[in-house]
Amino acid sequence: MQVDLYKHKGMRRALVKQLRDKGIRDERVLAAIETVPRHFFFEKAFLEQAYQDKAFPIGEGQTISQPYTVAFQTELLKLKPTDKVLEIGTGSGYQCCVLLQLTPKVYTIEYNKPLYEKAVKFFKTYGLFPHTFHGDGSQGLPAHAPYDKIIVTAGAPGIPKTLVSQLTIGGILVIPVGGESSQKMLRITRTGENDFTREEFADFKFVPLLGKSGWEADNL
Ligand code: SAM
Repeated sequence: MQVDLYKHKGMRRALVKQLRDKGIRDERVLAAIETVPRHFFFEKAFLEQAYQDKAFPIGEGQTISQPYTVAFQTELLKLKPTDKVLEIGTGSGYQCCVLLQLTPKVYTIEYNKPLYEKAVKFFKTYGLFPHTFHGDGSQGLPAHAPYDKIIVTAGAPGIPKTLVSQLTIGGILVIPVGGESSQKMLRITRTGENDFTREEFADFKFVPLLGKSGWEADNL
């Protein structure tokens, strides 16, 4: 278990300033980033890296997303404190902890077993209680649907129909969609039973979404 000292809080304030300068405007999202100790997700030797605005390897060929990306996706979700949110791609658990600052109803699913087990252990150590699942999140998590918000933290080849079907009416899906080298951030809003609006934002680079509605592992 790591500690959160005054110097770490200072490093987070500097990170939040960078995010503000890069265009993140939602004060609740910025406050969440300022609250969650990102260095808890890193080995002690990598303290500097924890507060740089960069993605970083977490093992198993995966990454903890860049803080700007976490802030950007979280801002697009327009989270309310009563929202039930599904995160696809738990990874290190960092994005999940940011979501937990904004709503207590967080469901998160991870495909990679060792990463899933590590994240579960992390949440337990720090007394956090998201609903954690191991499995193929490209199919969503139908057993607990519907969700007010769904966030996908890996790059998808398309928008899985099964995911949008698990949104409430008025619900929002934030998902990076594109090829292997870059993906466009999309926000899909379910406006009716079979009606959706689609908004496109900047390009990002994510690790691939695996599973049935993602890029099959064999093709990578
Ligand atoms: N949100 C994570 C964090 O804060 O550390 C970053 C996630 S990393 C960029 C993407 C994650 O998605 C990886 O941990 C990867 O194993 C996971 N992933 C890929 N395909 C998945 C799938 N079909 N279902 C669930 N998780 C998946």
